[in-house]
Amino acid sequence: MTNFDVIIVGAGIAGSSAAFHLAENSSLKILLIDKNNVSSGASGLNAGHISSTGLGNNPDMQSYLTHGSLEIFKSFQIDRGYDIEFRQSGSLSVIQTEEQYKFNLTNVLSLKSKDLNVDLISAKQAKSIEPDINDNMEGYIYYPLRAQADPVKSTNAFAKEAIKLGAKLKTNEEVTNILYKNDNTYEVITKNNQYSSNKLIIATGAWSNKLFQSLELDIPIIPVRGQMWSSKSLPPSIFTAISATQSSYDWSIKNTDDENNPPDLTHIKGERITRHLYGRQRKNGEIIFGGDRENVGFTDKLDFNGIESNKNHVSELFPFISRIEIDRAWSGFMPFSIDGKPIIGKIPRYKNLYIVSGLASSGFGRGPMAGKYISEIVLTDHSPNILKDAEPSRFDQLN
Ligand SMILES: Cc1cc2nc3c(=O)[nH]c(=O)nc-3n(C[C@H](O)[C@H](O)[C@H](O)COP(=O)(O)OP(=O)(O)OC[C@H]3O[C@@H](n4cnc5c(N)ncnc54)[C@H](O)[C@@H]3O)c2cc1C
Repeated sequence: MTNFDVIIVGAGIAGSSAAFHLAENSSLKILLIDKNNVSSGASGLNAGHISSTGLGNNPDMQSYLTHGSLEIFKSFQIDRGYDIEFRQSGSLSVIQTEEQYKFNLTNVLSLKSKDLNVDLISAKQAKSIEPDINDNMEGYIYYPLRAQADPVKSTNAFAKEAIKLGAKLKTNEEVTNILYKNDNTYEVITKNNQYSSNKLIIATGAWSNKLFQSLELDIPIIPVRGQMWSSKSLPPSIFTAISATQSSYDWSIKNTDDENNPPDLTHIKGERITRHLYGRQRKNGEIIFGGDRENVGFTDKLDFNGIESNKNHVSELFPFISRIEIDRAWSGFMPFSIDGKPIIGKIPRYKNLYIVSGLASSGFGRGPMAGKYISEIVLTDHSPNILKDAEPSRFDQLN
């Protein structure tokens, strides 16, 4: 049995960032462990959008998570010398109907009153940012601070930096059981090894509920399947991070309340209720897009109708997309909590048990800061007030 001060299970963006921040700010003996490789979960399969609108004049948890993460990504690219393909490209979100326009006008004005960086621009103005974008649209929301980075390179940069600072990494070791011992320590069991630690951080993303049943903990995380597709490498033609406002409008008017599902899914009981869209062009020239969010358990078989529907939607924004072919497609599992909010903090039921999960559909862009927060909670035994909406104790079964 090898002993550590802190074990982090899950080397996605949340766990790798936690390992890095802990290693940077303490001399604790840290183990980061993953059943596959670093970034093999959602953190390596996502679109690479980083969604900051700044801190504004009254920052909330969301703005701290996104803007804080943006600054951390930037520091890895610029100061620490990792080429994570970070670009503060800005982002455009298409508005396709008059109803969407009215809804977004109200939202944008509310965000601007908080001094957040966002603008509603005409379709002609959008063309000066994205020359190939369709100007026959109601308008676009422009987010100048939003950025993009390569998910695999970014997540690995955090893990590499953690190792450089002394943390240990074990990959291809699935944690199959966790025992809570009488002396308040944890025994973490894999097929070939056993590790023990005083403190344990759950960073297992969509798999969080599955694993922690061994501690009889029902963690309210649901795997939500996201799908993406990619073109072959093409000459530069999409410069910003792209999204669409149809889904947020539809979610605002449709009653999608369902106690078995987290909010903001594209399908309920197998029926499509909206079209969601996000994507960009990677540095290697591939155009990548996706959008669907479905609660289908851990079914990773692709739904090609969904992929085709997403490509058609993208073609409405960029007509040239209708002429390109899909080269490959993939899916990944996003960790949605049942109320849609992150779960970051101490789990009251056990001593020194922590969780950083529930980062849902925007966990790549929020993961670095979420990892930093959990490291601070571990080191200081204090959770900042800004994280009160992310408190694990809001779920009765964790108390
Ligand atoms: C298709 C898609 C597109 C997305 N696009 C974006 C985007 O553009 N921007 C954005 O901000 N977010 C996006 N997201 C969401 C984002 O990817 C996730 O919220 C984020 O990556 C979650 O990070 P995580 O570290 O919590 O989980 P994960 O990255 O899933 O990491 C969990 C890790 O735990 C490991 N693990 C699980 N069980 C065990 C076990 N028993 N033993 C050991 N290890 C275990 C897994 O192997 C995995 O590596 C997207 C997600 C998907 C699927």
